Amino acid sequence: RQSQPTPVQRCRNAALRRLLSTLAVLEQREGKLNMSSLASVSAAQKLGGTIHGIVAGSNVKPVAEEAAKVEGLEKVIFVENGAYDKGLPENYAPMLVENIKKGGYTHVLAGHSAFGKNLMPRVAAMMDVQQVSDITDVESEDTFVRPIYAGNAILTVQSVDSPKIVTVRGTAFPSGAAEGGSASVEEGVDPKAPCPTEWVSEDLAKSDRPDLATAEKVVSGGRGLKSKEEFDRLMPPLADALGAAIGASRAAVDSGFADNSLQVGQTGKNVAPQLYLCAGISGAIQHLAGMKDSKVIACINKDADAPIFQVADVGLVGDLFERVPELTEKLKSQ
Ligand code: FAD
Repeated sequence: RQSQPTPVQRCRNAALRRLLSTLAVLEQREGKLNMSSLASVSAAQKLGGTIHGIVAGSNVKPVAEEAAKVEGLEKVIFVENGAYDKGLPENYAPMLVENIKKGGYTHVLAGHSAFGKNLMPRVAAMMDVQQVSDITDVESEDTFVRPIYAGNAILTVQSVDSPKIVTVRGTAFPSGAAEGGSASVEEGVDPKAPCPTEWVSEDLAKSDRPDLATAEKVVSGGRGLKSKEEFDRLMPPLADALGAAIGASRAAVDSGFADNSLQVGQTGKNVAPQLYLCAGISGAIQHLAGMKDSKVIACINKDADAPIFQVADVGLVGDLFERVPELTEKLKSQ
């Protein structure tokens, strides 16, 4: 770790900050701005300097106009081309690189989402720099904080590369105010690079429940649920009673109790809801990596020594097959 900056360093940092310019890569799907991608704008605000956003796809001018209201953005660049709709990195990266070069940005920030994780390494490689991944804090224009070893250690990393290509953990930064800004909207460069990769199809899990990654409340089930039938019998009514999204441990997903898209943890989704209520989950470090930033953690487990109790704010030692229906009924009657 670095020591606290001296007054001279602080002055130098303030002067440097005025020279900074960040391009925040904004995600859109079918003409709708993905609000969780605004975490990259919040992280850019912490850096200081000028912040521009970029959005690409077919008919994205209205999305750019929506993004122009986001607080902190001075300009939103849009590139109108259906080739960028699905965020295929082979298509998207050459376009992004052209716009980075044109704008002479010192930093390029994107969410650490499937889109950002797919796109930014390619952009970094094309610009011959090293990517800084999954940051949870900004210490200065070149120093960032990121978790390593499934969140068991926190690394402070300094990058001397320029530009800095960075992905941002969405749960670590506020998603930014969608109102209050008045950025200009400008058409960006479209190199229309030939692309050997073609988008064929996608099979998206549809749900009327809140989106797991951004939900205020999450109820999660683990291997303790024993079967898919029990998972489906117990977890959805509890989620409905709370208005929560449903999550699952990897053991529950691997056993076929829940869909892959519901996995929380190191190799699943990162969540930081106001309430994370889990049942039949032991609290392995790889699971904790994805949910330990939740504001209130509550758990039900029959083993009082399960590690989940070490991170839980509220824990109930008991049989989930009795406790979950009981809790659901109590919540419904409130
Ligand atoms: P278990 O560890 O088997 O725990 C089940 C719990 O249920 C136990 O604590 C038990 O006491 C309790 N229980 C059983 N019956 C009842 C009952 N009737 N009432 C109440 N409680 C009951 N895991 C993830 O979750 N997410 C990840 O992203 C992830 N990524 C991984 C990446 C790597 C590289 C590796 C190696 C592992 C990863 N894992 C991940 C797996 C992780 O190590 C654990 O195996 C997994 O989290 C265990 O899931 P679980 O808690 O549901 O199951």
